[in-house]
Amino acid sequence: MKTNQTLCFSCTGCITKPLIIFLCIFSINILSAQTVAEKIVQEENNHSQLQTLAHELFDRIGPRLVGTPQMKKANDWAVEKYTGWGITAHNEQWGEWKGWERGITHIDMLSPRVKSLEGTQLAWCPSTKGKAIKAELIIIPDVTDSVAFANWLPKVKGKFVMISMNQPTGRPDDNWQQFATKESFDKLKKERTAETDAWRKRISKTGYSTRMLPIILEKAGAAGVLTNNWSSGFGVDKIFNAYTSKIPTVDIALEDYGTLYRLVESGDNPIISIQTDSKDLGTVPTFNTIAEIKGTEKPDEYVMLSAHFDSWDGGQGATDNGTGTLTMMEAMRILKLVYPNPKRTILVGHWGSEEEGLNGSRAFVEDHPEIVSKLQALFNQDNGTGRIVNISGQGFKNAGEFITRWLAAAPSFIKDSIKTNFPGSPGGGGSDFASFVAVGAPGFSLSSLNWSYFNYTWHTNRDTYDKIIFDDLRSNAILAAIMVYMACEDNATLPRDKAELGNDRRTGQPMQWPVQVKSIRKGPVAPTN
Ligand SMILES: [Zn+2]
Repeated sequence: MKTNQTLCFSCTGCITKPLIIFLCIFSINILSAQTVAEKIVQEENNHSQLQTLAHELFDRIGPRLVGTPQMKKANDWAVEKYTGWGITAHNEQWGEWKGWERGITHIDMLSPRVKSLEGTQLAWCPSTKGKAIKAELIIIPDVTDSVAFANWLPKVKGKFVMISMNQPTGRPDDNWQQFATKESFDKLKKERTAETDAWRKRISKTGYSTRMLPIILEKAGAAGVLTNNWSSGFGVDKIFNAYTSKIPTVDIALEDYGTLYRLVESGDNPIISIQTDSKDLGTVPTFNTIAEIKGTEKPDEYVMLSAHFDSWDGGQGATDNGTGTLTMMEAMRILKLVYPNPKRTILVGHWGSEEEGLNGSRAFVEDHPEIVSKLQALFNQDNGTGRIVNISGQGFKNAGEFITRWLAAAPSFIKDSIKTNFPGSPGGGGSDFASFVAVGAPGFSLSSLNWSYFNYTWHTNRDTYDKIIFDDLRSNAILAAIMVYMACEDNATLPRDKAELGNDRRTGQPMQWPVQVKSIRKGPVAPTN
């Protein structure tokens, strides 16, 4: 109303005073935020520990498959690092897993010519007990149905069985895009789709899934199982786990797999030898590494950093998720130096067994309701080595207001390239933030630039130190530290109200908030079909 408007613009009591107070509160915050942010940037630029950490973790310790001595070594290494920085840290057992240690893999073609082949045993592969097994090869046939397959099955006795298709090209699509005529690239894509479909049918006609098939072949007396899980790039394969319990399962690089496949098909009867050493270590405990900088004003409220510590073991687990791990460790190191007495308690979770189903973080959520219920925010990073360029509100109604305020303290060379999406929709999986989102706790994903992650490093034999982009990691460590600082200092607590999610674009149905999934506390779980 008019009267009120006049009053408002002329009365110092209702506008000017609150405005001054408002500015005072926020300018103090802005000034101290700027100072702390500058100190964070300076510490990272002048004394970064990222390369040292990367060398120690990836070159010395190596990949961190759940249940391996290397995973435990990494847990102990992280505790030692934190302790050295004056930060309290401990390893917290959340479950147990098959204990296994990878040994050497030697794969050689002996006939029709001699060549050492590029390949490696899959995780949890049985040992050939110090011996090399020599055998002929056989390809899974294109049978009419499961009965015909059962009739054929005795033929595998004493042979290595090839269960993957022979890829028509080892060149990535962008290479075809660059050099092929449109006609030949189109033809390739058409042929490849047809061959891939045919191979899928070939496997399904055996009556078994790709996970059960190796177990069936083992029971039928096969000498071993050969796979090629090509990752659509030059020289790159995804390396997951074996399902056999007595005979070796190996992945052979596309180039060598193709050679063997063609030799078998042409009747040249190649003979290869395979030696896989490994140690079965029974059942071992598995841990999350948790570190803490205690809060002063609100010690029972928490701001968390988060990154899974485990990896698959075909490479070094450098970008999945070594780089996320290093980002969080470095952010903690810097925070301890420039912000040693935070308002809220700062925690970092280095999770075990994310790769088998977010198990470490799901267990933490189950075991620590006192922390999860008092969580101001959690920041997780787990999609490679690139600069963080996306942050979503994960479906929390007020996330935008808070994250925007926290992000404002970041230097423009970092924040200007970050796209935000508020309120966004809640992630149901993919990485450990989802374990928190599922119970309505504000877990956010700091999402990175791609750097060919999905084809070249994610779960591959090429996920190694040389792929790390240290400049991007430096920027991510700075951002993570600033977000934690701002979330700790914020006078307000991020409300957990959920936004209207709208309809799922795919199904047209109303979107549902993800449900909590129980952690697998003992693994691996054997396939049932
Ligand atoms: Zn990951």
